[in-house]
Amino acid sequence: RAKLEGKREACFFDDRMDAAERSRRKLETSLRSAVEGNLIEVVYQPIIQVSTGDITSFEALARWNQPERGPVPPDVFIPLAEDCGLIDEMGQQVLRRACADALQWPSHIKVAINLSPRQFLSGKLVETVQTVLEDTGLPADRLHLEITENLVIQNADEAFSQLEMLKHKGIQISVDDFGVGYSSLGYFQTFGFNKVKIDKSFIAEIESSQAAKAIVMAVVGLARQLSIAVVAEGVETPQQYQTLSELGCSQLQGYLFSPPIPVDRIDSFLRRQQNELPTGNVSESIQ
Ligand code: C2E
Ligand code: MG
Ligand code: MG
Ligand code: MG
Repeated sequence: RAKLEGKREACFFDDRMDAAERSRRKLETSLRSAVEGNLIEVVYQPIIQVSTGDITSFEALARWNQPERGPVPPDVFIPLAEDCGLIDEMGQQVLRRACADALQWPSHIKVAINLSPRQFLSGKLVETVQTVLEDTGLPADRLHLEITENLVIQNADEAFSQLEMLKHKGIQISVDDFGVGYSSLGYFQTFGFNKVKIDKSFIAEIESSQAAKAIVMAVVGLARQLSIAVVAEGVETPQQYQTLSELGCSQLQGYLFSPPIPVDRIDSFLRRQQNELPTGNVSESIQ
């Protein structure tokens, strides 16, 4: 009897696996046609200079509105694109769109684009970036590329040599989500990153956790010693804003200032920003 039950259980389990696998394949097919149709959208979230309240850059964030399901979060479709070989094509589309969009903004405002570690594996990343810059006419110094710490772990030498070539063109390189990956401070010695973005999990706990605050202070100190910019991600409250500016964090990003917005709202966002003090926009733009 136990044997029978075990068998039935195994069967049930297999069925469920099939269902999960079927649903994954369906999503994959749908993602493939979205990428083929150039239907991945890009929204932009501002990064603010604390000392002046000015917008220094916008981070490009990919969006996928699946016809039946509605919006699928990037944390779902980016890993899917990585697994099914779509990330190079999708990454290139996001890059092309974001560079073209950035060209419409005031020239002191940069655009930051996220790179997946997988995009370093094809060996074509540097060439692709160069081609997109030439095609769109965006100056290299207006492009920032964000990479996570984990990138560097997997194939360090290869990744660093590509990063070096990109930086050599005048592109700025940021470390994203700093503190939650397999961080090695040694990477700051190996490569001259231009910017470090402190992961939002530390910002979320900066008021409640002495450890989170200590980590933020340490990263701010590190960035200052290295003369690189430091960004706090996920700033949601005026208290966090206050604490982070007291700690000497040079740039901030988060819902407190603005959620990611569609490109056609950037003009009016910038006009409004111009007329306001650094903290004046807080209650208005938080909705
Ligand atoms: P990320 O690069 O660290 O981007 C920041 C994420 O935090 C974004 O989530 C943003 O919408 C969200 N965020 C911004 N402000 C706040 C805040 O105040 N509170 C909270 N809780 N969250 C905030 P999103 O757009 O869902 O993207 C998630 C991740 O997906 C990104 O993390 C990035 O790693 C990846 N991603 C997004 N677009 C692309 C892309 O075009 N290419 C690649 N390779 N990855 C992308
Ligand atoms: Mg990012
Ligand atoms: Mg991040
Ligand atoms: Mg992230």
